[in-house]
Amino acid sequence: MVDKIAKMFYGNLAKGKILGAHCKDCGKWTFPPVAACRECGSRNISYKKISGKGIVHYYSTSILPPKKFAKYSPYAYGLVELEEGPTFLTMIEGLDASTPEKIKEGNENLPAKVRAKVSKKAGINVVLFRVVK
Ligand SMILES: [Zn+2]
Repeated sequence: MVDKIAKMFYGNLAKGKILGAHCKDCGKWTFPPVAACRECGSRNISYKKISGKGIVHYYSTSILPPKKFAKYSPYAYGLVELEEGPTFLTMIEGLDASTPEKIKEGNENLPAKVRAKVSKKAGINVVLFRVVK
């Protein structure tokens, strides 16, 4: 089940479509999509395109990035809240994570609007967020 969802998720990313899990029972969204609703545990889920609009609340740096993303480090990694409701930690473009001072400065300007985009990193399509004005 998990593999099936991952396959569908990445298959859609390749077409530039970012899917979230929308619960048909409680109406809440889960992102990244999983088999069961994070709010109520229901498996009565439909997988639908998300708006891609969100807000970044805070960020830090990628001190210990996953091995496959090590070559992009340091990058900004922070808490994003989607318009649809779910919050998660993700890679964010447009924020300076190069030094502790820059990170402190950058956080003083938050929250800021972000927009999801599909990007190829380490040969795979990933969802990342970019700060928009
Ligand atoms: Zn639910």
